[in-house]
Amino acid sequence: MDRSIIHVDMDAFFASIEQRDNPKLKNKPVAVGGKPNSRGVVCAASYEARRYGVKSAMSSKRAKRLCPKLIFVSTNKHKYKQVSNHIKSIFKRYSKKIEPISIDEAFIDVTGKEALEIGKLIKKSIKNELDLTASIGISYNKFLAKLASDMDKPNGFTVISKKNAKDILKKLPIRKLWGVGPKTEKELNRLGLYKIEDIQRYDSDILVEKFGKRGLELIEFANGKDNRPIEWKSKSQSIGEENTFSHDTLDREVLNYTLNKYSLDVFKKIKENRYKIKTITIKIKYEDFNIETRSLTLKSPTDSLEIIKSKAHFILNNKFNINKKVRLLGLTVSNIVYPNDPVQLRMDMDGFM
Ligand SMILES: [Mg+2]
Repeated sequence: MDRSIIHVDMDAFFASIEQRDNPKLKNKPVAVGGKPNSRGVVCAASYEARRYGVKSAMSSKRAKRLCPKLIFVSTNKHKYKQVSNHIKSIFKRYSKKIEPISIDEAFIDVTGKEALEIGKLIKKSIKNELDLTASIGISYNKFLAKLASDMDKPNGFTVISKKNAKDILKKLPIRKLWGVGPKTEKELNRLGLYKIEDIQRYDSDILVEKFGKRGLELIEFANGKDNRPIEWKSKSQSIGEENTFSHDTLDREVLNYTLNKYSLDVFKKIKENRYKIKTITIKIKYEDFNIETRSLTLKSPTDSLEIIKSKAHFILNNKFNINKKVRLLGLTVSNIVYPNDPVQLRMDMDGFM
């Protein structure tokens, strides 16, 4: 049976909430984020501001230059989170298979149900209960549902069916394919590929040779195929490695070697999932079965092997006083930052701006 996937994307989420709650901001260019004189970053821009080229992740200073009348409002994460939870409770009326991909976007698997009807009801409930608008995309897989919700923003409602998928895809620029950023776009342009139809017709062997597994994915997406399931079970809260040594040890070289190995394993997992992490924890179980854990939290999230490794060693060398043999050593990273999270994106930018 074909799947039915709904993608819901709130329109200018943070900015719309602020405009809703403060009548003075209605129909005005609004930027939620840091003030222009504070080296801040725009987290979200109202549609009125977007007309001037103001975008999220842009420095507030630059935004003010583009749109001198821009009104800055500071972020109210707690409020956005509450609205986000309310939206999620609306989704839950229709399916338990919900995959949030950021604070204001989610996939809902409604396979076997009346997808169009449900899509309309969700839109109506969001309007009635929260006085906000969402754009809805409905299709038979995740990629196309997300593409659909973006086609008629704001307040859109778009369905991509199996019949019209390939035709809709054809004329779109390749950057509309999931995961194609400016870098991949350039590489594809170099092969003479500009529109999705160029990929539909291109030699798949060459793409696979050039891009590996991603090449295969590009071909599938270009042809409207995407078998990725809705990941509705809650995301992992931490990633870690631990092992009991075959002999209890006090040998620093063994501990250091093990920690290096764990760092690499953990690094690979976070890279694979495009996560970043903020907290690093070391656990030691001694020969007498006593357990101690020590952690360290970074100022800004990281996905760097060097940082994870050096911090892990720092904890081991400075936060423990090892005077008994070690039976088990463990390394865990937590405080995970998931991709596409605009709130976290802002924290990231703050870190190096
Ligand atoms: Mg949105």
